[in-house]
Amino acid sequence: LVRIENVRKSFGKNEVLKDITLDVNAGEVTCLLGPSGSGKSTLLRCINHLESIDGGRIYVDEDLIGYRQQGEKIYEMHPKEIARQRRNIGMVFQKFNLFPHKTAIENITEAPTGVKGLPKADALRRAMELLDRVGLADWAGHYPAQLSGGQQQRVAIARALAMDPKLMLFDEPTSALDPELVGDVLDVMRSLASQGMTMIVVTHEIGFARGAGDQVVFMDGGVVVEQGDPEQVISAPRHERTKAFIESVL
Ligand code: ATP
Ligand code: MG
Repeated sequence: LVRIENVRKSFGKNEVLKDITLDVNAGEVTCLLGPSGSGKSTLLRCINHLESIDGGRIYVDEDLIGYRQQGEKIYEMHPKEIARQRRNIGMVFQKFNLFPHKTAIENITEAPTGVKGLPKADALRRAMELLDRVGLADWAGHYPAQLSGGQQQRVAIARALAMDPKLMLFDEPTSALDPELVGDVLDVMRSLASQGMTMIVVTHEIGFARGAGDQVVFMDGGVVVEQGDPEQVISAPRHERTKAFIESVL
């Protein structure tokens, strides 16, 4: 479903992604591991066109992100078309980024009614289903400040799902949470995975990567150092850098 080909990205002189090539199959969970500054967030942001790339190509569901291809020629896409592509991709951040002045359910219905033009009643019904799915059916009328971090993150997941994305990107979704709240969020992600959602998850939760991941990708210094079956990469890493990293987060 996702094809990342020879992607390069620099910020000034800082080459953050150096020739990244990666495939993600539909219905699979790819866990992205790597030390701070290795380019994990940048890669997710490029997939979602929050950043433009300097080289290479990214396809999501055969759709070239950010560019239009005509024969051998490539043109930049109109921002409106980019916005359309981005609607197929849900993203969940470390910081939940909910609208503070909107209730849980209003946060979820915002984009479907505003961007997609879904009738309010339909959006509300769907939002209630999604709240139920993330275990928060009783919290629809609460404001973010009245919810725990874990609950806010589950609302953020429901909000992303409300646009019916083909792909979900998670950038350290549990890193900002108190330890006792991490499990509920991971449970929601596991259930999403078991329902066949294609997901790319940046995480330091090795247990999640091992249990829910279909592939694990270890990045360091802007390159993919190692990738493969979670059990192999985590328990029997081939590269010294992978081994050192896994030991440091276990
Ligand atoms: P972490 O685990 O700390 O989240 P990461 O693997 O997600 O790290 P990135 O956030 O992708 O790493 O950052 C990789 C490098 O790119 C870092 O050196 C960072 O300073 C730099 N960088 C990221 N975003 C920008 C930006 N908008 N402008 C300039 N430099 C940036
Ligand atoms: Mg990051």
